[in-house]
Amino acid sequence: MSDSHPLPDVPEKQPSPTVVVVGAGISGLACAYALQQAGVAVQVLEASSQAGGWVQSFAVEEHRYLLEGGPNSFPSSSKAVVALAEQLGVPLVSANENAKHRFIALGADLLTVPHSLWSAITTNLLPWRAKLRLLQEPFIAPLSADAPEETVAQFVERRLGVLAHTRMVQPFLTGVYAGNSNQLSAKAVFPKLVAYEQDYGSIIKGLLASFRKNKSKIKNKRPYALLNCAGGMKTFIQKLVQALAGTVHLNTPVTGLKQTASGWELQLGNGQKISADGVVLAAPAFVTSQLVASLSTEARLLLDAVEYAPITVVYQAFKKRHLTNRKEGFGVLRSWEVPNPVNQAWLGSLWTSSVFPNRCPKDEWLVSHFFGGACHTDVLLWSESRAIEEATAQSRWLLGSAPKAMPTLNAVFNHAKAIPQYTLGHTDRMSIAQTLLAYQAPTLQLVGNYLQGINLNSCVESGQVACEKLLKMPPFQKAPQAPASVHTTEPLPPISLDDNVSAIDSTATIH
Ligand SMILES: Cc1cc2nc3c(=O)[nH]c(=O)nc-3n(C[C@H](O)[C@H](O)[C@H](O)COP(=O)(O)OP(=O)(O)OC[C@H]3O[C@@H](n4cnc5c(N)ncnc54)[C@H](O)[C@@H]3O)c2cc1C
Repeated sequence: MSDSHPLPDVPEKQPSPTVVVVGAGISGLACAYALQQAGVAVQVLEASSQAGGWVQSFAVEEHRYLLEGGPNSFPSSSKAVVALAEQLGVPLVSANENAKHRFIALGADLLTVPHSLWSAITTNLLPWRAKLRLLQEPFIAPLSADAPEETVAQFVERRLGVLAHTRMVQPFLTGVYAGNSNQLSAKAVFPKLVAYEQDYGSIIKGLLASFRKNKSKIKNKRPYALLNCAGGMKTFIQKLVQALAGTVHLNTPVTGLKQTASGWELQLGNGQKISADGVVLAAPAFVTSQLVASLSTEARLLLDAVEYAPITVVYQAFKKRHLTNRKEGFGVLRSWEVPNPVNQAWLGSLWTSSVFPNRCPKDEWLVSHFFGGACHTDVLLWSESRAIEEATAQSRWLLGSAPKAMPTLNAVFNHAKAIPQYTLGHTDRMSIAQTLLAYQAPTLQLVGNYLQGINLNSCVESGQVACEKLLKMPPFQKAPQAPASVHTTEPLPPISLDDNVSAIDSTATIH
């Protein structure tokens, strides 16, 4: 390992190759863990005062409420996350049966999302003409492979009809990307569905073919459930950090990256420099762009082009007896077909205490409202009291809270750059950036939610794939099992597992 600042106690024997992972979000931690399991010495440097990135849980008011500042669940089909949880011994909690009931708000109406074949036929979410239009999909000629890339709105409306877009797909995208389906790329957001059109001439034909192919696997699959962890999503991060035993360093921002003759030199915020044989950049695209600037101006510009949507999450709890219109279920997402009667920046709400147990006192009801997204960036200007006011109005409308019923809890999370937007050209831009960097610097890997999917499973997979790629590179092939070590000018600060401070670009206030 190269080192411009050797420590006095550097062992005489050539130390094992070291990888520095920049960013301790789920992507970076999953990558670091995979590297450690493969016997590579790894160090994780995190800018903020807590590990986990967007994965943050807060037990507040003497642990009476358990709030998620970021992700609140993942489906049991998330193979990489579930396997990692099992490996780490993360205690998983399944959602209540109720969680299968989901709703779409169409103006003032709440329409039920079908969860079975029969409910798909009888649902009032789509009128009959829209259901018939959906069934015509296999007979619609596919676009030629060299046709210009389509937005999600263009792709879904062409194949499945306008109402399938506005009442099904677009609310789903609001829930996942907080995005605008007139800007998001179909190829980036639904790569499988776009490939089905090309390979089978139809989405429905492609889905049926894939079902037939995987029939035996589907039979053996465990039943679908929505999962979280006992103690909240943060438990997952704590287990990862524990497994990484002393190699995660908080309050340690990386401010510069330089390729040297024998590896890498990283500049830290405190002026310290450290060296490594490999580097994994697991920070958001707008940070990564700055770090790769000296390697490729083009890669920097391509990464800089990734836009992020803001989200304001407001948790409110009410005494159950004060709510006249509460429904059991996962929650509600908003269709943009008609205006919402209360607030145009509202994206949807989760009925948190109806989904997972032990989220609030038994006689209370905990809801989280989401505001903002790509179409309403003005939430960034909302004061905390404005956010609470808007949420209270939303609770009145959605849950029927009496005008005099005051929430027993208000908690506001402001996430300025929350969700990367996979807009037209995103897949190609990211692929070119990665190719340019791989050519210039094969021992550098990019991971994170702006590359191949924003859900937790894609993040974990992205970390694991980066690990596999690094292990094929010369300094890491057949790396011996070794204790993690890194050459630094000063010891790096250790991690405290109890830190509950919010991450970069994110503020949390709880009342
Ligand atoms: C409000 C919200 C709700 C969500 N809900 C769900 C959900 O229910 N289910 C789901 O599957 N997904 C959900 N997601 C998406 C998912 O949580 C994220 O995509 C995922 O957590 C991103 O992880 P990451 O490691 O790629 O990035 P991040 O979490 O952004 O981690 C990057 C890390 O890099 C650090 N960093 C930045 N700059 C530097 C630097 N210079 N030096 C060192 N470190 C640096 C940051 O502090 C951060 O810790 C949600 C996201 C949000 C915002």
